[in-house]
Amino acid sequence: MSNRAVRLASANLKLRLASVAAVLVFAATLLVTLSTLSVSERGMKSVIGDQQYTLLSGAASFMDDRLAARLGQVEALAAGIPPRLRTDWAALKPFLADQVRLWGADEYLNLVVFDAAGEMQLSLRELPGPTVLNARGSDYFERALDKRKGTISRPIRSRLTGNHIVVFSAPVLDAAGKVAAVLTGSVDLRRSGFLRQISTLKPGKTGYLFLMTADGVIIDHPDESRLFQHVGSTPGVNQGTDRALAGFEGWLETRSKDGSDSIYAYRRLRTTGWILAARYPSAEAFAPMDAMRRNAFFSAGGLALAAGLLAWVLVFRLLAPLQDLSDSVAAIRHDGAGIEVLRDGRHDEIGELGRAFHALMAEREQADRDRAASEKRLRMITDNLPVLISYIDREHCYRFGNATYEKWFGVDPKKLIGMPLARLVGPDAAADISPHLEQAFGGQSVTHELRIPVRGEPRILQATYIPDHQPDGSVAGVYSLVHDMTHVKEVEEQLLQLARVDTLTGIANRRMFGETLQHALDRARRSHKPLALAYLDIDHFKRINDTHGHGVGDEVLKEFARRLTVGVRATDTPARLSGDEFVVILEEIGTRVEAERTAAKIVEAMRVPFRTSAGLVQSSTSIGVAMSQPRQTQEQLLAAADSALYAAKGKGRNGYAVFEV
Ligand code: GH3
Ligand code: MG
Repeated sequence: MSNRAVRLASANLKLRLASVAAVLVFAATLLVTLSTLSVSERGMKSVIGDQQYTLLSGAASFMDDRLAARLGQVEALAAGIPPRLRTDWAALKPFLADQVRLWGADEYLNLVVFDAAGEMQLSLRELPGPTVLNARGSDYFERALDKRKGTISRPIRSRLTGNHIVVFSAPVLDAAGKVAAVLTGSVDLRRSGFLRQISTLKPGKTGYLFLMTADGVIIDHPDESRLFQHVGSTPGVNQGTDRALAGFEGWLETRSKDGSDSIYAYRRLRTTGWILAARYPSAEAFAPMDAMRRNAFFSAGGLALAAGLLAWVLVFRLLAPLQDLSDSVAAIRHDGAGIEVLRDGRHDEIGELGRAFHALMAEREQADRDRAASEKRLRMITDNLPVLISYIDREHCYRFGNATYEKWFGVDPKKLIGMPLARLVGPDAAADISPHLEQAFGGQSVTHELRIPVRGEPRILQATYIPDHQPDGSVAGVYSLVHDMTHVKEVEEQLLQLARVDTLTGIANRRMFGETLQHALDRARRSHKPLALAYLDIDHFKRINDTHGHGVGDEVLKEFARRLTVGVRATDTPARLSGDEFVVILEEIGTRVEAERTAAKIVEAMRVPFRTSAGLVQSSTSIGVAMSQPRQTQEQLLAAADSALYAAKGKGRNGYAVFEV
């Protein structure tokens, strides 16, 4: 990593640490504020709900009182009608008008009196439409008649105003206690003080009160289109109102039909069973909470920003020694500074880190020195060994070579690296080497011989390839070790030659004879021409030894071999088998006659006295001749010749005999 990259990475770390601090502060502030707000919101909701219900209860009780009071007034008026006026409708009207004027209130829309049969007998105000009304069947009339006491009607639509009115009815009793008439007073709910006064209790700006009968017909509602409608006629579900119709009283938070949450309170009127309800939209009720929540976000954000900045400054100061350490490491790596600076750091964790770095680098430096020394030693050994040591990769290019390459091929080992094998040894030798190398790349150790010129001289080399096995089982390359075997080969050849020549006479010995005879027999078999084998033994050789000594015997043996060699064709092979026994392979002899002629010639040649250090020595030889037979082994042929020799000796020596089949 470059110095700049180190700086960037550590700046990144600082940024991350500062960001973490900021995020933690933000999260903690927000968590505390929001959980506090949530607890307060629950408390606040219950306070608002209770307050709402209390207010609503007050309003309901106010309405109850007003309704009861008005009913009481109508009852009192009915009871206060003088007996003479009870059925004198014409006189009753001004009486009633006077009484109502005394009440001074404009609450009564109208006073109407029905006779016991339900026929309207008088109305304080003019009624539109038909002037004759019959109240039979209406609840307020029937109940007043039945129970003989005052009653309050269901809300009904006024024929005068179209508004909701309720009718307070009271029986007018005659002297006998029978109902003589029914006095009714009607009140327009919306115009009267009933609703006007309680509407001032509506919650908040957007909240409102509404009133409905026990079975859900809306009596009062800010949305006038819903008046006289059943609450269920508007689509949607309001669980609060459903529960109130089923008898619930109290407050709850539920979803309105318009989809928004609201706090609802419900209370039934004691006098009529109507349900007075209040709705307070949650959005308005908890608007302060929302504002506080927004403020909490901003405060948390502000605190987090401040905490982040503070954390940045602190982290910067705390990490300054780490930056120094990283600068020191960079200086060691790039400017070659000493590692001691790492050791003398502070007495804290960063100082510990520096010392750990120092220990690590000191170990690495020591290991590097050890490795360099070891490599130098190895180089020294490999460079001074009279062998080629190299490492060859899969492309058959050198990856390493010792100094012997320079001595043998004049190639600098440094320039050898990357050089293809074919360029060093030539394409022909490379083609010979290639299959052996491939075998080594296949995982086997291979040794083979190759002949290439070294410093212009043909050399016989022995190469050994050892595969470089990798932990995964593959072979990455091949170690090659090449010896010069030329001298060894020459000595080997000489030894081989020596082993096949008779040391006394210089002609072939028994081993070479065996090889030559086998080849000659093979050739004879292929050409269908027989060969002849002559088996020779010097006559009375023991006597020569005994008379003149062993050295003279040896001189005779040498001369015997020479005469034998010049006496036969160059293609024929004379050999000494042992002592004074010799053989000659006469190839392409053709006929027995020819063989006999050669044998006779040799016998003749050996009769000539031998010139030795002890003077002329007379000697002679006996010869057994055998012609080769098809499918005959060399042992059989030799035995046949030996047998013929025995016969020649038996005939008195100094002559030859031919083996008769
Ligand atoms: P014959 O006519 O039956 O062959 O009689 P011989 O005396 O030649 O008998 P034989 O062939 O059995 O004897 C061979 C002798 O050759 C015996 C041994 O002392 C002698 N001899 C064997 N090897 C050497 C040698 O390397 N040098 C000398 N000088 N004599 C040898
Ligand atoms: Mg002999």
